[in-house]
Amino acid sequence: MRKPIILGNWKMHKTLGEAIEFIDELKTRELPKSVEAGICAPFIHLSDLVAGSKDSDFGIGAENGHYEDSGAFTGEVSIASLADLGVDYVIIGHSERRQFFAETDEAINKKILKSLEKNVVPVVCVGESLEEREDGSYESLIKRQIEKAFMNVTETDASKVVVAYEPIWAIGTGKSATSKDANDMCKFIRETIKELYSDSVAEAVRIQYGGSVKPENITEYMAEADIDGALVGGASLEVDGFIALLEGA
Ligand code: 13P
Repeated sequence: MRKPIILGNWKMHKTLGEAIEFIDELKTRELPKSVEAGICAPFIHLSDLVAGSKDSDFGIGAENGHYEDSGAFTGEVSIASLADLGVDYVIIGHSERRQFFAETDEAINKKILKSLEKNVVPVVCVGESLEEREDGSYESLIKRQIEKAFMNVTETDASKVVVAYEPIWAIGTGKSATSKDANDMCKFIRETIKELYSDSVAEAVRIQYGGSVKPENITEYMAEADIDGALVGGASLEVDGFIALLEGA
């Protein structure tokens, strides 16, 4: 049985003060035990958020990380140092990083391997553009993204990876995928993982949907057989909204 997982992706939002205020408030609330919950935040907030969320029912994640443990990579933060800080998750290969920061499938694969080595749960994002959806090439694209992401990941480690299916056209647009379309793609991803590994790995991997998820539509997505949670941007920025997502899941 896969435990649903709802993660907030704050992107480049919130000052440190606002971030701490959110976490302090969230800590006082009763969260549903049936859902795994986490907040992924900008690097500079992580140290305070990890400390602030101690003994809480939610985890803290980073939005990126570098695969080298250390070195001359000005401006980067290593996954090794995130692990040392006690971060639980790291988002890898978000479409905004692929698009605006030229992140390649090869770099994404190295980041996944490093986070598994360091026991930080990788949340690997895949998804197609509107153009790829409309010209029908999206299945082959997603298949390639999954195959490259899981390269050299062992059978034991593969089931620890969380995959987030995030169609680019649904991110921040208010134009969410229908629950059926989202489920079809999550199912397709699960089948691809089955081809790469086995039935049991495919059945264990958690696959999230992301793209304009909000309290009003979360229940519909979660009712689908192959959707195991959500990666949420805008609707995770307020405590009440985030809790409503957990309760709706
Ligand atoms: P929105 O929920 O704001 O559409 O963002 C989705 C996303 O990119 C989460 O990683």
